[in-house]
Amino acid sequence: MNTQVLPVNDKSIALAAELLQKGELVALPTETVYGIAADARNGEAVKKIFEAKGRPQDNPLIVHIYGMEMLKGIVSEVPDRAYKLAKAFWPGPLTMVMPRGGEVSDVTCAGLDTVGVRMPSHPVVQAVIKASGVAFAAPSANLSGKPSPTNAQDTLVDMDGRLPLILDGGESAVGVESTVVAVTGEHPMLLRPGYVTK
Ligand code: AMP
Ligand code: MG
Repeated sequence: MNTQVLPVNDKSIALAAELLQKGELVALPTETVYGIAADARNGEAVKKIFEAKGRPQDNPLIVHIYGMEMLKGIVSEVPDRAYKLAKAFWPGPLTMVMPRGGEVSDVTCAGLDTVGVRMPSHPVVQAVIKASGVAFAAPSANLSGKPSPTNAQDTLVDMDGRLPLILDGGESAVGVESTVVAVTGEHPMLLRPGYVTK
């Protein structure tokens, strides 16, 4: 497969949207690190992420949305405290684990009955989600076990030949993964430390 690296503009955003709608992968900048995106509802598409990374399939992926309306079908219920946390930290590097909605593929959640969701603040991610209407699953854009890339050049080193498009949006500012918190139980639970601290 030939991997294109394109600067971010209307044309490359439209191409990224089209690829995602067709069930293909797109690597793109987020505010944390570069990610590999695939339609979270499309199991065949999400499988390609695991193949490209060499990532074990029992490790669930985070679904990226834009706008609270997009939670529909992705989660089955938004607990009250999730609204509070969303108000305080979204868009931004906080992932909330909620009861899984009927439209998310099993592959995305590694078969769990919960799903991790976040609303990124990076303008390129927001533009791609708006242009495609696709809520996408996205882990970091490195081969499994390698460090997470924060620019398009490092993404290309790991992903050359493994996916069709890398959007070059410069350096990711945060460089640290999102904080993952479960909001389903009686008390919120920190599942993975990250940029947003306890
Ligand atoms: P990443 O490695 O950045 O793709 O983030 C994926 C990580 O988010 C997983 O390794 C888990 O730690 C966490 N995660 C995602 N979805 C869930 C879930 N449904 N339940 C618990 N943790 C989750
Ligand atoms: Mg990672």
